[in-house]
Amino acid sequence: MPEELENPEIPVPEELQGTVTVTTLDKIYNWGRRSSVWPMMFGLACCAIEMICTATSRYDFSRFGMEVMRPSPRQTDLMIVSGTVTKKMVPQIVRLYNQMPEPKYVMAMGACASGGGPFKEGYNVVSGIDKYVPVDVYVPGCPPTPQALLHGLMTVQKKIDGESLRTARWYRPEVSEALPIPVLGPDIFDPRDLEAIKNRRPAPAAESSEVVG
Ligand code: SF4
Repeated sequence: MPEELENPEIPVPEELQGTVTVTTLDKIYNWGRRSSVWPMMFGLACCAIEMICTATSRYDFSRFGMEVMRPSPRQTDLMIVSGTVTKKMVPQIVRLYNQMPEPKYVMAMGACASGGGPFKEGYNVVSGIDKYVPVDVYVPGCPPTPQALLHGLMTVQKKIDGESLRTARWYRPEVSEALPIPVLGPDIFDPRDLEAIKNRRPAPAAESSEVVG
C-alpha cells in the first residue's frame, strides 16, 4: 500500500506495520481515480504536437497512469483542449464534452485554448474554450512545453485529491444536464438565444440628409 494512503492520525502497532494500513474512503477513492486519468485523444493545432511529445519516452506521462489516451469520449476522464479553437470546431468540442461520463475534467492547454492566443481578434477563432465548457486547469504558453503540460496534469491530480465522496457533484441527486451545443451560423451562437436573435430587428437606416438647392 503506498505511503500516501496512510492516515498518520491513526497509528498502526509496530508488529502490524507493512501488513495493515488505515486509510479513508476518500483517500483510496481519489487515489484510484488520480492514478488512472485517461485523456481524450484529440488535438487542434500546434499545441497538440507538444501534447504528443509529452507521451513519448523522454517525458512519459504514463508515469502518472495517463498513458491510455482514448479515442472515444465515453471512456475518458480528461479533455485536453490543445490548440486554436475555431468557431467551426466549438460545436464538436462541446458535443464531445457532453459525451464524456462524470467525473470529468477539462484542461485548456496553451494561449489559444485559454484566451484566443495570437488569433484572439481573428474572425474565425473563439477567445477561450472556457466560454463553452467549464475549464479546471489552464496551462499557459505558446506552446506550453511538455514539462508545463506535466505540471498541469499533476494539478488535475491535486484537484482530484481534494474532492470528497460526500460532496462530489456527480453523486448529487440532480442529474447533470448536457451543455447546449453552440450553433455555427454567420457567427457562433448559443441555441438558447435563437428566439431573441430571430426577433431582433435591423437597426433603422440613418435618415438621408436633406439637400437644399
Ligand atoms: Fe499554436 Fe501557440 Fe496557439 Fe498553441 S497557443 S495552438 S502553439 S499558436
